[in-house]
Amino acid sequence: MRIVMKNNVSESEWNNTLLFVQKLDARIISEKSKKTVTILPKANGEDLPEAEIAGLPGVERIIKTETPYQLVSREYKNEDTIITLGDINIGGDEPVIIAGPCAVENESQIIETARLVASHGIRLMRGGAFKPRTSPYSFSGLGEEGLRLLAKARAETGVLIVTEVLDAMDVPLVSEYADVLQVGSRNMQNYKLLREVGNSDKPVLLKRGMSANLTEFLMGAEYIMAEGNKQIILCERGIRTFVEYSRNTLDLNVVPAVKQVSHLPIIVDPSHGTGRRDLIEPMSMAALAAGADGLIIEVHPQPLESWSDPDQALYPEQFARLMRKINLYIEWQKEHADFAPAH
Ligand code: PEP
Ligand code: MN
Repeated sequence: MRIVMKNNVSESEWNNTLLFVQKLDARIISEKSKKTVTILPKANGEDLPEAEIAGLPGVERIIKTETPYQLVSREYKNEDTIITLGDINIGGDEPVIIAGPCAVENESQIIETARLVASHGIRLMRGGAFKPRTSPYSFSGLGEEGLRLLAKARAETGVLIVTEVLDAMDVPLVSEYADVLQVGSRNMQNYKLLREVGNSDKPVLLKRGMSANLTEFLMGAEYIMAEGNKQIILCERGIRTFVEYSRNTLDLNVVPAVKQVSHLPIIVDPSHGTGRRDLIEPMSMAALAAGADGLIIEVHPQPLESWSDPDQALYPEQFARLMRKINLYIEWQKEHADFAPAH
């Protein structure tokens, strides 16, 4: 529930309202500059005394959020959230493309990839140093050495780094190197990790759980925001269905659906969403047409030699072609702003 105070609220009315709500034994977020006080739902499910609050002097109106997610909802905040990294805006007018290998393998691979993506105007590079793998015998990343190599690639090319943090304990370490902390699909409901990244000052890329519905996805984001971190980028990466021709089913419906109910930006991962490099170009374009705020794409200098996900890594030439097409689309979008998705 959000309390909107009157524009001319007096100091004593503000303080009295705060005193009243503080006695409710619920979490409170007060924003004096915006003249609002938010009361988060009580853990015991007890109703808040709405009528009494509405009657307090200085209160203009109450906004009730009907959904289980509160802070990430559009009812709570109507304007789109824009995540700013230097002069990069995620969730702004232009889609942002993140690209890089599935995993950091060695110095020459990551530096070569960083140069490759940077040459196409990419400002954010992906690359896992801690990899969640289905088999315990698969390559699980270089760990801290991988993070050091990512930092080296950033220093050499200027690309900022998006990398996964697998475990709550690793948040401080990964934060030392990363510009954006990625929470993977398998961890979308790892509540300890969500709370930990919620306490971080780094933006978080939250990937949709492979069997999560829209509400569960947004509740994952709510965990992060409830800890105070407002910089969240959602990512659709495909869900599990009965199909056998692709690794996952990219649920592009969720892009406009999320935009209706949440102010957070949402990007799309066609690499994990399809698992097939021949499907990445069409699904990237489809994602942008659906209103995605960006894409995260796997590309490798020698895809067939990739230590993880070799079937979905784009060849450099495929990536070059895709970037040309994306840039044309972005130009078209700018010229036809009236076609911007409405929500
Ligand atoms: C990844 O992006 O490296 C990854 C492991 O993806 P997901 O968590 O979506 O499977
Ligand atoms: Mn991968």
